[in-house]
Amino acid sequence: MSGRVVILGGGTGGTLVANRLRRALPPGAAEITVIDRDDRHLYQPGLLFVPFGLTRVDQITRPRHRQLHHGITFVEATVDQVDLETNRVLLADGATVPYDVLVVASGAALLPEETEGLEALRRRDRVFTFYDPIGAAALAPALAGFDGGRLVLNVVDMPIKCPVAPLEFVFLADWYFRRRGIRELVDLVLVTPLDGAFTRPVASRMLGELLDRKGVELVTEFSTASVDEPDRRLHGYDGRTVPFDLAVVVPIHGGQPYVGRSAGLGDALGFVPTDRHTLQSTVRPNVFVIGDASDLPASKAGSVTHFEGTTLVENVRRFLAGEALASRFDGHANCFIEAGAGKALLIDFNYETEPLPGHYPLAIGLPLLRESRRNHLGKLLFQWVYWHVLLSGHEVPGISATMPLAGKWRVPAA
Ligand SMILES: Cc1cc2nc3c(=O)[nH]c(=O)nc-3n(C[C@H](O)[C@H](O)[C@H](O)COP(=O)(O)OP(=O)(O)OC[C@H]3O[C@@H](n4cnc5c(N)ncnc54)[C@H](O)[C@@H]3O)c2cc1C
Repeated sequence: MSGRVVILGGGTGGTLVANRLRRALPPGAAEITVIDRDDRHLYQPGLLFVPFGLTRVDQITRPRHRQLHHGITFVEATVDQVDLETNRVLLADGATVPYDVLVVASGAALLPEETEGLEALRRRDRVFTFYDPIGAAALAPALAGFDGGRLVLNVVDMPIKCPVAPLEFVFLADWYFRRRGIRELVDLVLVTPLDGAFTRPVASRMLGELLDRKGVELVTEFSTASVDEPDRRLHGYDGRTVPFDLAVVVPIHGGQPYVGRSAGLGDALGFVPTDRHTLQSTVRPNVFVIGDASDLPASKAGSVTHFEGTTLVENVRRFLAGEALASRFDGHANCFIEAGAGKALLIDFNYETEPLPGHYPLAIGLPLLRESRRNHLGKLLFQWVYWHVLLSGHEVPGISATMPLAGKWRVPAA
């Protein structure tokens, strides 16, 4: 067993896979190289808190190379394309990197240019996003100066990273304006392409009720055609319009541009077709995919990326050893949902089982789909776990990569 393992992207997935492979493979069995376009690893869940002044971008960013263990080569360069025929990665500076096994871990890209009017994001006047560090930082003074009116959160289209983050934003906005004593002067509106607050029925109903209790208006099945900043309106393809004074927009997501330039690697959206249980790509046997870069019907979330790591590392090891791959990944996802006022909810689900109430990971664990202080503490603690346990590739004690059923209650969907 020996080989050159090249990992494209040194974010959540690329870092944890590199560190786990370093330990899983016998010494000298593989050269592991991670390629990323910059040396700034951003804890993306922290972006949610930046607009509310609860953290700053520099407090959630660390040097990328420092998260990689000894014996892993870090290359700071932009990937221009992958040549699947010759097993080589072409870099923007003209260099080439040959591989025996390729791990695509380059995440998802924000594509505001796909929506008419979203160039307004660059002006940072009345239209913002918190999905990138510059936008999140610019939104903080805009929120601080907002003294009343319609604050509209618009998800342009699915899939997006962390599908619960828009809900968290409006829950935190409710708390934030209450704390400033001007909640009654602010109309909070969540505009979504979904037919409810979330993708799956039980969670959608329970989260919809929570939006209602917090006085957040929910506009569903809204397919955004354009964002008109001068006229302060979202326009839908069906002719509906939604007025705003301040719009916070989650742009369309796609794969990274280099995927589109790499013949045979991606689908029409730039995501890489991937086997849902082995995490081997369906484009080449020696290409594996982790995290947001795949076309899997799982959430684009750090937790999913983390759970995928277990199966992916085992399968890269098996592939190099000429063994059959393990079909273990079950779509497991879990997310804390910050609800404001020091409380959060937790959801846990997989391909087959929707988020259900109960407890996690066992019958006496954290409450599921219910606001609690313990969940909020879990959300805060998670940043420490991310830097010290998850990225370094260790198992989180008590948390299994496959979804536990113990502790979950079956409830009627209606
Ligand atoms: C606002 C927000 C809140 C979130 N909250 C949560 C949460 O609460 N819980 C949760 O589980 N998840 C959350 N997420 C999602 C989570 O951060 C991502 O799902 C996770 O980081 C995906 O990991 P990844 O490795 O696939 O991609 P990333 O971590 O995004 O890494 C991709 C890497 O690829 C690099 N790259 C891309 N293109 C190139 C190129 N051409 N050349 C070189 N390098 C390249 C990038 O620089 C990047 O470092 C949130 C995301 C956002 C935006």
